[in-house]
Amino acid sequence: MIELNIDDIRDQNKTYGTVHLWINQNFGKADRCENKLCKNKSKKYHWAKLKDKVYEFKRENFIMLCASCHYYYDERFKNKIVNKRI
Ligand SMILES: [Zn+2]
Repeated sequence: MIELNIDDIRDQNKTYGTVHLWINQNFGKADRCENKLCKNKSKKYHWAKLKDKVYEFKRENFIMLCASCHYYYDERFKNKIVNKRI
């Protein structure tokens, strides 16, 4: 059984923001897509956390993705997230 404390959720949100700020300050804005199969559909780039990683101050937990790849990357894992909520 999982007990989810509201303070834990707040901490996670805080960590999310802090880590994203950290990665932008230390590695700059995402300026390319690291997906080798990228079809170059978008010129907007984001830092994306790898799905099997947690929010830590580690560059290797993140990849740069264009908006298009980021969308498909999130879609692929959506079902998993939905299942978790039930
Ligand atoms: Zn891409």
